[in-house]
Parts: sequence; structure tokens; C-alpha cells
Amino acid sequence: MVDAHEKFAPVSDEVYYIVPDKCTECVGFHEEPQCAAVCPVDCCVPDPDHVETEDILLDRKSRLHL
Ligand code: SF4
Repeated sequence: MVDAHEKFAPVSDEVYYIVPDKCTECVGFHEEPQCAAVCPVDCCVPDPDHVETEDILLDRKSRLHL
């Protein structure tokens, strides 16, 4: 369990980033990741260090979106 009000250190102060523990790849809401779909310079790319199954992503969705 994580306290939603707890402050965490940023992954980077230099670049925008996606927090893997909060990203559901938009599974359950959209057909494709919406950040990648709208990014004009294709910055949102798959992270080979965080490959997850649809079941894991759906579980995260259900926990984050009550
Ligand atoms: S828009 Fe979807 S894929 Fe992009 S960071 Fe948010 S949850 Fe993840």
C-alpha cells in the first residue's frame, strides 16, 4: 500500500517522464497509449525494462481508478 499523499523524489528534473507504477498503458480505457498517440515528436516509446502483461496493467487500472 502507498499513501497517495506521500511525496516522492522525481525520477528526473531534466526531462518529462512516465512513472511506470502509475502507467496503465491506457489499457481498459483506450485502444492505444494516449500519450504516444498525441505526442508530435514520438517521445513516448516502450520501455524494454518495464514490459507488462495486460493482466498486470488491468490490475493497476483497477487499483488506481477506484
Ligand atoms: S496516457 Fe496512458 S500510456 Fe500514457 S502515461 Fe498515461 S496511462 Fe500511461
